[in-house]
Amino acid sequence: MSLPVQNKALHVPELKEIATILQAALKTNFAEAEVTVVDCPDLTQPPFGLSAAGICGSPRLADVGGVPYLMPLVNREKLYDIHELARLVEVPEAFIVGAGAGPHPHVGVNSEMMANIKTGAKAVNGTRIAKINEAGNYHLEKLPSNESRCALMLNMFASEGKSGKVLRVHARKRTGDQNLVSLMRQALEKHYGADKAVGLGGTFRLVSGKAKCHVMPDFSPTPLTCDDQINEWLRFYDFEAPMVFLSTLCSVDPGMDLRIEHTHGYGKDTGGHYHYDTTPDSVEYEGYFNVAEFMYRIDRPTTTHQIGRN
Ligand SMILES: [Zn+2]
Repeated sequence: MSLPVQNKALHVPELKEIATILQAALKTNFAEAEVTVVDCPDLTQPPFGLSAAGICGSPRLADVGGVPYLMPLVNREKLYDIHELARLVEVPEAFIVGAGAGPHPHVGVNSEMMANIKTGAKAVNGTRIAKINEAGNYHLEKLPSNESRCALMLNMFASEGKSGKVLRVHARKRTGDQNLVSLMRQALEKHYGADKAVGLGGTFRLVSGKAKCHVMPDFSPTPLTCDDQINEWLRFYDFEAPMVFLSTLCSVDPGMDLRIEHTHGYGKDTGGHYHYDTTPDSVEYEGYFNVAEFMYRIDRPTTTHQIGRN
């Protein structure tokens, strides 16, 4: 059964122009901030250790499924193979990073997915999942190389995994109350307005400090119908650096029912959905992002709502 797919071309400004906009925004929220255009470092190497070297070549975003498949009640039929998603975004040999829900038939329960996978002939799967196990305890694990599914939803950034020019984002010591990703997204929204959607994807590290993250427990047997209920259901943690995050954002929603920002990350034994750092004085971020040329919407829910999208 083929999945419904639509796509839209995004506005693609020069990296240098975006760097100027983001640096000005970061400086309102961090004591030190710099955004530059650089050659992407080899992301397979420490401290990132991802599944491909770079985030360049046919860069694009996709929003797959959505929160309406998770709540009010879960639809367990919604499973996606990331190799197929790569074909649907027309980059069959793709490096895909992003935030989604793990494959419950393999994991055993609902989970947070930190997607980090190279598809195609030379596949590499560095994807992690974070779950609350049957005993109620937090657990992080790496998926086996042949488990390339996700469930329910995935916000992903795909590229050919090549090296090339990217944005380097560096910020230290937070002076404002914005999280890194919302700050960047809102700066692009403010600059480009409601008619020009600009999408970014990539990775950043929490170099020092702590981040508030959530992990979804197993599927709720009772319907989740508002954000208060969802916050009661979720498990929240303060995770310590170093952590690697995989991130997508789109300045505005060009009428595709998108989740406009979504970031998951992991450390040695930690991982989950990024909310914000909790250590303004000691926080430091370093990240690499590229600009997406297209937004794909795959298996868009026909019945939708706005809850649970933070
Ligand atoms: Zn999430």
